[in-house]
Amino acid sequence: MDQPLESVRTNSRIVAEYRARTAGSAALAKEARGLLPSGIAHDGRHIEPYGIYVARAEGPRKWDVDGNGYVDYFGGHGALLLGHRHPEVMRAVEAALGAGTHFGANHPGEIKWAAAIRRLAPFAERLRFTSSGTEATLMAVRLARAFSGRSTLVRFKGHFHGWHDHMTSGYASHFDGTPTAGVLDGIPAKVRLLEAGDEAGLEAAFAEERDIGAAIIEPTGASFGQVPVRPTFVQALRRVTERHGALLILDEVVTGFRVSRGGAAMAFGVTPDLVSYAKIAAGGLPGGVVAGRADILDRLDFAAMARAGQEKIQHPGTFNANPVSAAAGVTTLGIIAEGEANARADAAAAQLREALNEVFAETRCGWAAYGTSSGFHVFLNAAGRPIDPRHFDAEGIAGGELKRQPERLAGRLRLALLLNGVDVNGRIGGFVSATHGAGEVAETAAAFRRAILMLRAEGEMA
Ligand code: PMP
Repeated sequence: MDQPLESVRTNSRIVAEYRARTAGSAALAKEARGLLPSGIAHDGRHIEPYGIYVARAEGPRKWDVDGNGYVDYFGGHGALLLGHRHPEVMRAVEAALGAGTHFGANHPGEIKWAAAIRRLAPFAERLRFTSSGTEATLMAVRLARAFSGRSTLVRFKGHFHGWHDHMTSGYASHFDGTPTAGVLDGIPAKVRLLEAGDEAGLEAAFAEERDIGAAIIEPTGASFGQVPVRPTFVQALRRVTERHGALLILDEVVTGFRVSRGGAAMAFGVTPDLVSYAKIAAGGLPGGVVAGRADILDRLDFAAMARAGQEKIQHPGTFNANPVSAAAGVTTLGIIAEGEANARADAAAAQLREALNEVFAETRCGWAAYGTSSGFHVFLNAAGRPIDPRHFDAEGIAGGELKRQPERLAGRLRLALLLNGVDVNGRIGGFVSATHGAGEVAETAAAFRRAILMLRAEGEMA
């Protein structure tokens, strides 16, 4: 349970300096705790003693209410491949705002938005907009069940697909498939949790259970590749699902339009039956999409279901295909289709991983930076494995160990990085945008170097 802010006693210099630099954020955090559980709006923003309150952002940077600047690797939880406030996206959003925020009717932008997605992901024969990635995976599962007539969903341990009832057990806890707090027993009972990367286990599960209607996967591995999976495993999953008459759902909420212009599906040559998108797809505004085979999306189509004499899946949603999100999505996807945003972000992330590993090697801290495309993850090596960060192979380390970061050290590292002008996520990693460049990489490497010294000075690490 969170303690009242003033009662958190510590003799940490990092915490004391953080408090001194972020008095405005501290005051807001105190007020927030009387209104919002833990004072926050997303579990990923939970940080002790409190997180920064941000006033504005631009390109690869953001500034808190106390005027401190940060190189930002939160990247709108992955939504901002083009960085904060891309001028063309802002112009499109302002024009959309000028026309009205909700028409309670069809609007031309939703057609452009669907076409912009299909241009990059041609297997998206039909699309249905939602308000978030969670809603997109929820509808994907419902479509898959209705279409296949089978009820079991295959998921992979540690993979994240949002917070609805089918997706909670086996993400961060309840790996035995028991329900998490507030979820009915019967729901995880129809979810089969498998180990990603284990082709034999996959074959065995499908051979044993005939009621598997669909499998869903984060195509680059759990938590955007913090625990990587090989493309060959996703390709194997495609073959196995097809052979057994089950559907493949690629959850591209975070990989979509990032790991390549057409996401992981196009990069890996895997055609899913259904795909979920959000984040970049909505240009950094709220929105999501479920898309895929026309015969499956027909379950949402009035005429098709009347013809087939089948029950249509209901799908209202006040903010589905909101015109402002549509404008941001169309513009962002157009820039991605025509420019080099993915390549620029990938190159900056590769530089960053290399620069961090230089710091880790020089300081002999035992950590390693890894990842693919425009992401990075920092392995804090709680078990003290002998590793060479310059030649680190995350695939050689079990998924549980990659995910189980030492909590206290990770928390203090985040604060130390904030003190040195860098914001990373709680797993210790982040997203690099097309606006990050050599300057941000150098600043970030220097911030990590100073953070390591600070952590050593107060005995948090050897
Ligand atoms: N799936 C994946 C792979 C995600 O990364 C996320 C968000 N981090 C979601 C689903 C859920 O999306 P949202 O937060 O928009 O509900």
